[in-house]
Amino acid sequence: MEAISTGDIFRANIKGETELGKLAQEYTSRGELVPDSVTNAMVRDKLASKIANREAEALGFILDGYPRNVAQVAELDAILADFGISLDGALEITADGDVVTERLLKRAEIEGRADDTEPVIRHRLSVYAEQTAPISAVYSSRDALAEVDGIGAVDEVTERLLVALESLNK
Ligand code: AMP
Repeated sequence: MEAISTGDIFRANIKGETELGKLAQEYTSRGELVPDSVTNAMVRDKLASKIANREAEALGFILDGYPRNVAQVAELDAILADFGISLDGALEITADGDVVTERLLKRAEIEGRADDTEPVIRHRLSVYAEQTAPISAVYSSRDALAEVDGIGAVDEVTERLLVALESLNK
């Protein structure tokens, strides 16, 4: 199953120095969310082209890092309704902030991501708490949320994610 990561798409555009990349960089470098108008249009375009190629319907897909606030949830509902796709559910991976910070600092050494510095990580965590965490309640009220404990080895967390995905796919 394909994962469509909004963060990856932004990073590819930043690397390619596109107009979208120049705009996105102003936000990603500070750990802020890229404005919804830009992000939503990008996700809609991406799904439209997948559907035109009939890839999304045939394979299913995971959106990684989207939606990230309540307004994006509403837009995703609209996009999926327009394309006649139904959502199986949302996966929330939980982990203590200190563990996340430690992991991202380690990732900085390996991947050199510009937003994996301690002050930007701290800010990303506060943006998550303020803007992203509230969307769990939205999916939970629809009985469409699975929570996965993100603490543990990669293969343990992967196994939990597979079980959670199965529980959503009913
Ligand atoms: P990620 O790779 O998911 O950690 O995303 C890296 C950065 O890309 C975030 O800190 C945001 O600046 C931006 N970004 C990714 N996804 C979104 C989104 N759904 N809405 C707004 N900004 C996003």
